[in-house]
Amino acid sequence: MEFTLTEKTIHYYDTKPNYVTLKILEAGQQNQSVYQGYLEIDFNTTDNILVCQTGKFSELSVQKARLLGGTISTWLKKHGINNICLPNEDEDIFSITNHFYPFFEGFFIGGYSFDKYKQTDRKNWSIAVHLPKKYADKNEGLINIQKYALAMDIARTLGNEPANVINPVSLAETCRQLGDQYGFTVKIMDEIELTNIGAGGVLSVGQGSVNKSRLIVLEHNGLQDNENPIVLVGKAITFDTGGYSLKSVEGIQGMKYDKLGGITVIGLMLAAALLNLPQRIVGIIAAAENMVSDFAYRPDDIIKTLSGKTVEIITTDAEGRLVLADGLTYAQNNYSPKYLIDFATLTGGIVTALGNVRAGLFSNNDDLAQKLFTAGENSAEKLWRMPLDDEYFDFIKGDFADLKNSGGRKGHPIMGGIFLKQFIQNNTPWAHIDIAGTSKNDKADGLNPIGANGFGIRLMLEFIKNL
Ligand SMILES: [Zn+2]
Repeated sequence: MEFTLTEKTIHYYDTKPNYVTLKILEAGQQNQSVYQGYLEIDFNTTDNILVCQTGKFSELSVQKARLLGGTISTWLKKHGINNICLPNEDEDIFSITNHFYPFFEGFFIGGYSFDKYKQTDRKNWSIAVHLPKKYADKNEGLINIQKYALAMDIARTLGNEPANVINPVSLAETCRQLGDQYGFTVKIMDEIELTNIGAGGVLSVGQGSVNKSRLIVLEHNGLQDNENPIVLVGKAITFDTGGYSLKSVEGIQGMKYDKLGGITVIGLMLAAALLNLPQRIVGIIAAAENMVSDFAYRPDDIIKTLSGKTVEIITTDAEGRLVLADGLTYAQNNYSPKYLIDFATLTGGIVTALGNVRAGLFSNNDDLAQKLFTAGENSAEKLWRMPLDDEYFDFIKGDFADLKNSGGRKGHPIMGGIFLKQFIQNNTPWAHIDIAGTSKNDKADGLNPIGANGFGIRLMLEFIKNL
């Protein structure tokens, strides 16, 4: 698979080169901010100066600085400008706000677009940033930002690819390619191996598709030893029709995005390899395509998961928890996770509860939950903890099997969480992050255009950094 990646370079000058100069000014009286879309950009072509007027610097939060940087690089791309120069001034936005890195984090994450299938759009944008020499000591930090921005570009493209390009088989092959290129190990389990180990969750969900299910295991070992790894499990339903519990005309639109939990895991593994993080990290992607055919699984079917637990299928549209169950079991059977964290676009209910501002956080471990919550606040990929009381279990107790895969409409996102909890062994510190509302943009903001946004990658980098 081909990725069109934007070349981004950083240069330092003694004498200011004659490129477009970026001046960021305080608008003073304006009480709106870039956060609400307020940013006046004026390009004076005679003087070659790009003037950006934003809200008061004193009100510029870290996240607003990110959005400001992203909005500017998006603008530069749109206007085909390939070089930008920061003036050498004593008093500028960075000396006043100290938000140098957040600004450039936004700058290098912004300017992304998924236009590889369009014939007309500008495709080969590259950007060179020219900074006064006094910033040369920040080079390492900027290079690190560029590394995870690259991981996010690849993740967003993978996430945006439609299901006629990305299915469980091609996703696995793409992981192989990325692992070879960026340096993490990749193990792919096909339907035969999955049958041999008894992974009936991920197999049943995908059995209606010609593109058979895959369990993809990625490993980064930054320490070259056998410490207990951080294990991430991602739901990757490359397309979710709902199966025989078929989605509606409207509900089925956008179901290529039902793989974004898995994509978050791939993006984090890419970033871990590029940054050479000094941790052992394992990523497990449970990939299946949920289709309708004479081979597809049905409501009332009773399936046996990798854990041995049986599940009665109430609705074939509650398939994410079935593939995740096998991913979580595989993780615990083959590794002793220090932390076990799953990412999934699991429920519409979490979108009803939290909208697209915060993702749902479920955990059996207060310390892990607190660490994740804090990482969310710091990265602005924010979480909100949801309950997992034992009483919720009654709703998913099976009539004819150990469990059933739906507990009805009440507390819908919690039913997903309590279901997954049944697959956690020996109090392994575990968290489930439901990203159904946060993993794609319905409209463009400073960092992302419409589509997959890589939610969770920066969250996990922040989490890991503080361990
Ligand atoms: Zn579904």
